[in-house]
Amino acid sequence: MAVERTLSIVKPDGVQKDLIGEVCRRFEQGGLHIVGIKMLHLTQEQAKGFYVVHKERPFYPDLVNYMTSGPVIVQVLEGEDAIQKNREIMGATNPAEADPGTIRADFAASIEENVVHGSDGSDTATQEISFFFDKDEICARTR
Ligand code: ADP
Ligand code: MG
Repeated sequence: MAVERTLSIVKPDGVQKDLIGEVCRRFEQGGLHIVGIKMLHLTQEQAKGFYVVHKERPFYPDLVNYMTSGPVIVQVLEGEDAIQKNREIMGATNPAEADPGTIRADFAASIEENVVHGSDGSDTATQEISFFFDKDEICARTR
């Protein structure tokens, strides 16, 4: 294992349900440290760009509308094995298939409105972090 950074998003449904604190608490209790965080209301252009990998999928237009329907929290998480650890804490994309005790099992309404995003690999983590954060917006933990 190595110390990694990954991108997390509390999606518009998670913010609407006032789950920001609960989601951050689960990351912190799981050993993931927040090293960058901000609230944004994504534009259509930003949401389309962020999810461009899914642009041929039938759910893409709905996904873009969902992700621009309200503000989101974007954050950079740091820790041992952070990319995989974040995915474990989130649970599977479809809440019906997510392990008990995961964020999506506990709070997601559907396969679309599933509360959180997390990078799925080291290349995507690097790319997704730089999509939202300048270098000076990420603060190394000095204590
Ligand atoms: P994950 O967020 O678990 O990495 P994907 O990258 O496959 O999942 O999909 C990105 C997002 O698109 C999902 O989190 C969800 O919001 C939405 N999505 C995925 N699959 C579907 C689907 N079959 N129908 C509607 N929305 C979907
Ligand atoms: Mg994904």
